[in-house]
Amino acid sequence: VYNFAAGPAMMPQPVVTQIQAELPSLGGSGMSIMEVSHRAAAFGVIINQAETRLRTLMAIPDDYAVLFMQGGGTGQFAAAPLNLATNHRRIAVLDSGQWASRAAGEAARLGVAADVLATTKNAHYRHLPPLPPIAAATYDYLHLCINNTVEGTTYHHLPDAGSTPIVGDMSSNILAEQYHVRDFGLIFAGAQKNLGPAGVTVVIVRREWLHAVTAVPSMLDYRLFDQKKSLYNTPPVFAIYALNLVLQWVQEQGGVAEMQRRNEIKAKKLYAFLDESPVFANLVAKADRSLTNVVFNTGSEALDQAVVAQAAAHGLMNLKGHRSVGGLRASLYNAMPLAGVDALIDFLHDFEKHL
Ligand code: PLP
Repeated sequence: VYNFAAGPAMMPQPVVTQIQAELPSLGGSGMSIMEVSHRAAAFGVIINQAETRLRTLMAIPDDYAVLFMQGGGTGQFAAAPLNLATNHRRIAVLDSGQWASRAAGEAARLGVAADVLATTKNAHYRHLPPLPPIAAATYDYLHLCINNTVEGTTYHHLPDAGSTPIVGDMSSNILAEQYHVRDFGLIFAGAQKNLGPAGVTVVIVRREWLHAVTAVPSMLDYRLFDQKKSLYNTPPVFAIYALNLVLQWVQEQGGVAEMQRRNEIKAKKLYAFLDESPVFANLVAKADRSLTNVVFNTGSEALDQAVVAQAAAHGLMNLKGHRSVGGLRASLYNAMPLAGVDALIDFLHDFEKHL
């Protein structure tokens, strides 16, 4: 079975196998990771390893904190404005799709003005909105959804925001392609797409940006989580354990550069097929196409549904597009092997031949 779900998504098979083997007894302790205290030495090793591995993989500078939080990407739509929009009480947003728009909505809900500087909504988000010049000292930050999971676009290169820090939502392409952490004030990602199971949210933030905040729930307080090394309260122990194994797997594969190389091969192959196909089409501007979420359709809802059903019968699971846009979507995260993409292309090719 190949799982093309957008998230929770496919995990690397060796990691699943290791979790299965270790689940009854962690390191011969006679206790499952699910029963281990977050204050136990064994978990201390795990969470420290996870941080060190992520720092190595992303070349995270020492002046950036790595936090393991809860609440997913949606929690960060609140945490970022609450912690960081304290000066101007105003953020800038490029409306590149549903998740960017949700971030703007959450900031506004918390009393922070969220100015949408550009949107491609009228073009069905099939290309990315360009960033107009930003006046210095106007916004606390620019929120960017780096990979638009629903619409299948990616900022492969960041727009120039001048002195305004960028908060990057990397939920669906962290470790899938290389970025410079220094280009961001903050990066966040829920784990359930490219990092492991749901439950832990990774936050990477420039420490000098952190300051004491009031009227922020402790669970969303970056500085508190940094001071307490992500152990302010009981963290999602199992999710962090699994995350650590996924990070180890990425290192063993050759790191993010190697992941990007493989992801480019996988995506290129699928886009090439779609561009040639008389039946299937991807309508996203080529320069903006995502490596991790490939959206496509036949132009007929009934036919799209037939593809989803028949593909599942062939072990190609969860190809249904996001409920807000319909169509089809193949998510090609790091754990998806090239063989999965080949199997998908073979199936689609067969499907169109028999129409
Ligand atoms: N940001 C992006 C880019 C996403 O794809 C998602 C979920 O799919 C979210 C945020 C929301 O994440 P969560 O469900 O972890 O709150």
